[in-house]
Amino acid sequence: MSRREDFRDRALVQELARRLQGLAVGPVTLMEVCGTHTMAVARFGLKALLPPGVRLVSGPGCPVCVTDQGDIDAFLALGHLPEVILATFGDMVRVPGSTTSLEEERARGAAVQVVYSPLDAVELAKRRPERQVVFFAVGFETTMPATALALKSAAGEQVDNFSVFCVHKTMPQALRALLTCGEVRVGGLLLPGHVSTITGTAAFDFLPREFGLPCAVTGFEPVDILLGVEALLRQLKEGRAEVANAYPRAVGREPNPRAVALLQEVFAPAEATWRGLGRIPASGVTLTPAYAAFDARRRFAETLAAVPPPRPRACRCGEVLRGVLTPPECPLFAAACTPSQPQGPCMVSGEGACAAAFKYGS
Ligand code: SF4
Repeated sequence: MSRREDFRDRALVQELARRLQGLAVGPVTLMEVCGTHTMAVARFGLKALLPPGVRLVSGPGCPVCVTDQGDIDAFLALGHLPEVILATFGDMVRVPGSTTSLEEERARGAAVQVVYSPLDAVELAKRRPERQVVFFAVGFETTMPATALALKSAAGEQVDNFSVFCVHKTMPQALRALLTCGEVRVGGLLLPGHVSTITGTAAFDFLPREFGLPCAVTGFEPVDILLGVEALLRQLKEGRAEVANAYPRAVGREPNPRAVALLQEVFAPAEATWRGLGRIPASGVTLTPAYAAFDARRRFAETLAAVPPPRPRACRCGEVLRGVLTPPECPLFAAACTPSQPQGPCMVSGEGACAAAFKYGS
């Protein structure tokens, strides 16, 4: 199979659903780690095809959703500087910080520009040399190479009015933190296909080794996801735990060497704060000394030091991201919190679990 339609083939989906019924292993909760999986599961109604007792819950794999409220507040604070243009992906615009959002700040006159890639933000800086363009670098291993290329481009062309507010995060350390927090009870993990194109499946070998957890890297079409579930149920039935590769057309066992070299040139591991998981050592990145001049945290250190600590909100996104609460279990779901009036990122992100449940039903 090669075409996308092949991986949506109804007869194949039905055949896989039949095979899953034959692998029923009793009650078990599986987690789809990635937000793109969450959306696909909801969009294609895949939960209805699972055997009785097999539950799928969402995990911490939506990059917008796991961005810490304190980081959002800090980025918003830079918008108060008259020389600054805030450049961001569209998903971030309506995510609420402690007291406001990029959308609200834009309505009050802040310069907020939606970009489709980090290189667009560099181009914006070149067009507006009189302003400082700060790019909000959100995302996992998948999007980090694009930020790295933008930084290389800015450095090569000496675009000195460009900087990056880096909140990139890396997935393996977050999964270790999730599984050691003692709160999460899952029997297997569907691992993110996009991240794995960079890291290779080997980056997740510690999951079966340390936690005895069956894992499967999967793609994003219905057949991909059902093949991943089948790999998990088969491992559970046979009492095995390994990282199965249900996405071999895009993912190999080893990391992508060119991407890794690029990331190592531009980024160094650093502690990061995750919504719902807190501070996790080496789960984020900072810029290497060669690129430190483009680090917005350094360039605007004085302004950022004055940002007050985040104010707690009623949002339960942290629990949704740990897989301990389903979106409809949040008292605000579809009441005080809707896509037009989001109380947390999970309702507004295109990969958010609450947005998926609201749009497609849970
Ligand atoms: S329904 Fe809204 S408030 Fe509740 S967890 Fe989801 S995004 Fe957060």
